[in-house]
Order: sequence, then C-alpha cells, then structure tokens
Amino acid sequence: MTTVININREILSPEEANISVFDHGFLFGDSVYEVLITCHGIPFKIKEHLQRMSVSAEEIGLKLPYTYEEFFREINRTIAAGNNRESYIRIVVTRGVGEINIDPSSCLKPNTIIYISEFSGYSEGLYKDGINLVIVSTRRNIKESINPGIKTGNYLNNVLAIMEAKKRGATDGLMLNAEGYLTESTTSNFYLVKDRVIMTPSLECGILGGITRGIVLELARENGIHVEERMIRPEEIREADEAFITSTTRGIMPVTICDDSKVGDGRPGGLTKKLIGLYKNKLEDMISGDL
Ligand code: PMP
Repeated sequence: MTTVININREILSPEEANISVFDHGFLFGDSVYEVLITCHGIPFKIKEHLQRMSVSAEEIGLKLPYTYEEFFREINRTIAAGNNRESYIRIVVTRGVGEINIDPSSCLKPNTIIYISEFSGYSEGLYKDGINLVIVSTRRNIKESINPGIKTGNYLNNVLAIMEAKKRGATDGLMLNAEGYLTESTTSNFYLVKDRVIMTPSLECGILGGITRGIVLELARENGIHVEERMIRPEEIREADEAFITSTTRGIMPVTICDDSKVGDGRPGGLTKKLIGLYKNKLEDMISGDL
C-alpha cells in the first residue's frame, strides 16, 4: 500500500509532504475538497467531482489554480506514482498561506494537494448486515451559514455529529436541519424505502448533492423505481421498509438500525440489494465513457 502526495505539482512521500502552519486551510478550514476513487485504475466521475469543486470554490470566492486538464494530468501522474491496484483520491485546495487572521486577502496563492492511497473499500460485513445510525443532536448547518451544498474543508459540524454518534455506539450519525427534517449522514446521503418508493431529502433541505446520489437516483428512475426528493420527517424512519446511505467510497450501504430500532425487518432490504447490483453494473458500464 503506497500513499503519495502531490503538493503544487510536486509528488512527495507522506513524510516529505508538509504545509505551512500559516495556511488558512489549516487555520480556519478555509478550503474546498473532493474525494473520488478509481475503478479499474481510472478516476471515476472525475468531471463531476471537478465541476462540484469548481462550484464550491466559486461559492467561497477561491480561484482554482489548475484547469480541469491540469487536474486530470496531476491526478493521473500521482495515481501512477502510487502504483496501487485501486486508488483513493483526495483533492484539497486551500486558501493558501496568509497572515494569522481570518481575512483571506493576505492569501495570495492557493495550495493544491492531491492525496493518493490504496483503496480497498469497506468491509463486506457492513453491506451484508447493514449499519447502525442514530439521529444526533448536532444539526446540519443552515444554508445561509456554511451551505452544506458546498464541499468545504470546514467539517466541524460533521465532526461533532460523528463524535456524538460513536459515543452512542452507532456507526454514524444522521443530522436534522434547523426545522427538524432529515438531511444526511456525516459523509453520505440518506434514503428511505417505503412500498418500493425511494425517498430522500431534497437539496433544499440543506445537504450535499452527492455524486453517488445523482447516479443512484438516475439509476432508480431508469429502472422504473419511483423516487421522491422531499422534506422527510424523522418519524418516517419507523414506518420505512428499508434505509440506505450512499457516498463515493461506500457506494450504496444498507442501514438496518436507526436509533436502536430495526429499520423494516432489520436486514438489508430487497430494493437496496437490487440497487447495489444495478450500481455495480452501472459502474462497470460507465467507466469507459468517463475519461
Ligand atoms: N454528504 C456529505 C456531507 C459528504 O461529505 C459526502 C461525501 N463527499 C456525501 C454526502 C456523499 O457525496 P458523494 O456521493 O459525492 O461522495
């Protein structure tokens, strides 16, 4: 397993890779980031991830230092240097080094860091048995604050949420928005299934528009599965037949327990398992068109 880091186009070992303590990404979480993985060695949905990062950067008034072509080149060069079977790729663009106060006007040059390490996925048991979520007291940021739709390096909201969830013995936390509707888990989108209809919080609820969410919803619609994107009350979990989460690194992962109660019969649901199969096939089909 090899981890390599590309900092501003220089490929380094983890020991050599260093960022200044004056970088505003470190000081204030003033940065944007993306996580993607390779599938057969090829960065999956790279265009979508770069597009989302451009939007995130624009939203925080940060000019990305590379063109898409330069990102492609640097990512591929770093993947090659890592020489892993499959790679985990994290791209971080920070505001850069500046004075030690929050005003970013002293930060003249963003730092671009690409982390590559071996990607081996989550353990099979999590897909076989499903995971256990709890609704945490930490609410998702309101859109008018740090908009959850922007993928910034400021994840303290989610850090507090997962800490609370772990303390309560759960795999992860499920966050409500300020109005008390479901939003998402700390690094994944959330879904319920009831009477073979997929329900998921709409973007307006204050969530990250996950790349995997986009693929899964498209996949469901292509296969005649009805999808509702709307505001969902937490009590609807008790009435649901199935639940699952999605993210780039997890794909589709069943949720079988929520707040110490079984979801449905407490086993990964039939529609969830069907979607996992469809997603696997789609991944194989799409990868060739993704370069
Ligand atoms: N929500 C949050 C808060 C996340 O951090 C992530 C992971 N990036 C997701 C959802 C899932 O997004 P994606 O499918 O693009 O990985």
